[in-house]
Amino acid sequence: MNPRTPDDDMSLENIVRHTQKLLQRKDLPPDVRDDISLIQFTAQHKLPTEEQIWGWIDQYDEPLLVYDATLKFIHVNPAAEAQYGYTREDFTQKSVFDIRPVEDHERIKEHLSQERPEISGPSQWRHLKKNGEVFDVEIVSRAYPHAGPGARLVLARDISRRIEHDERMRDIEIMSNIGFSTAYILHDVRNALQIADTFNTLLIKKLEKGDTNVIPEATKVKEAYGIINGIVSQLTEIQHRDETAEDIDVNSALYNYKILVDSLFKRTYELVMDCTATHKVLFEPVEFGRITANLARNAKEAMHEGGVFTIRTRDLNTLTSIPLTTGGEVPPGQYVRISYTDTGVGITPEHACRIFEPHFTTKREGTGLGLSMVKQSITKHNGFVDLESTPGEGTRFDIYLPRSSNL
Ligand code: ADP
Ligand code: MG
Repeated sequence: MNPRTPDDDMSLENIVRHTQKLLQRKDLPPDVRDDISLIQFTAQHKLPTEEQIWGWIDQYDEPLLVYDATLKFIHVNPAAEAQYGYTREDFTQKSVFDIRPVEDHERIKEHLSQERPEISGPSQWRHLKKNGEVFDVEIVSRAYPHAGPGARLVLARDISRRIEHDERMRDIEIMSNIGFSTAYILHDVRNALQIADTFNTLLIKKLEKGDTNVIPEATKVKEAYGIINGIVSQLTEIQHRDETAEDIDVNSALYNYKILVDSLFKRTYELVMDCTATHKVLFEPVEFGRITANLARNAKEAMHEGGVFTIRTRDLNTLTSIPLTTGGEVPPGQYVRISYTDTGVGITPEHACRIFEPHFTTKREGTGLGLSMVKQSITKHNGFVDLESTPGEGTRFDIYLPRSSNL
């Protein structure tokens, strides 16, 4: 007999099973038999019916599949149909092998030949869709006694997107580092300044009264400036971090950030990508990502109720210069133009001429550093940035980057 765990014994199925066995014994005193019958009756009525269970499985928003002792599927939910591309009827013709790449059949055979606990997993496998696509899944399965011994209920969660998503989340963390750390840095600097100010005031008051014992206050002021000094050195280090520009294909760079931008724009937002530029540009890849992250975040913050964010790339060969609304012009030449358009609140002309200034913000929690970073970075790469905005309708940021000499 398998070693039992308290959980096993607590399950309703087990109570029903054990009471059943007990009731078969002939030697039970009648009062004990009555008690056991009562327990069995109660447990049985607490057990969900087959119909209830299937209803629950169908409503579950992650793919659930049930197979029986012959390893054939007997039930799957709509989420599983969507994940694999097979209908429920298709599934009843399939076994657990049919949703795995042939190379993995040995591994699954070996796995299935072993005795499995009531609940097993999570473990990682590769599954196969109807269209032939292989993807990573995380499997948790449990015994499913309603369909007889050997039957199991399987939760098969597609984690290929999650793996990618986690990587993207790491990207966004790195990319937003500047934004986030600026907020923290400002907070720390402000705190330190406040400490310095408070002790400075005390110190002055003491001196005014002729009290020259100001060493404790002076020490606090010195400590506070020490903190600020440390922060400034850290910042300098970040600024001088060695990043080298390379020829990048803006379209693939943007598609790499698509999941990240997608994760920013949930439900009520739509992300449109229309990228047809064919030329490369010389840019530091991480900085390019930061630009997109900043513009996407601003767009989202400008579209309170949702809206459309469009990223467009085009090759541009201009024989005449293009005047910029913020002053200056794009000289004639060959560029890749990247446009970020939102359908947000827009920017008034009074604000438009100031938004690239460091610390200019109209947001309560804003740092006003995003666009100044964007502009700095573009200028450093010999590019230009322009904007066009209609209050109440939306905003478009156009970035002109010189085409790199290599295709
Ligand atoms: P922050 O986002 O911290 O305010 P930014 O430098 O990123 O700093 O932006 C500066 C200001 O420019 C914002 O506070 C906002 O007023 C304006 N702004 C930037 N992007 C947009 C946009 N897409 N739509 C409307 N206003 C914007
Ligand atoms: Mg911003």
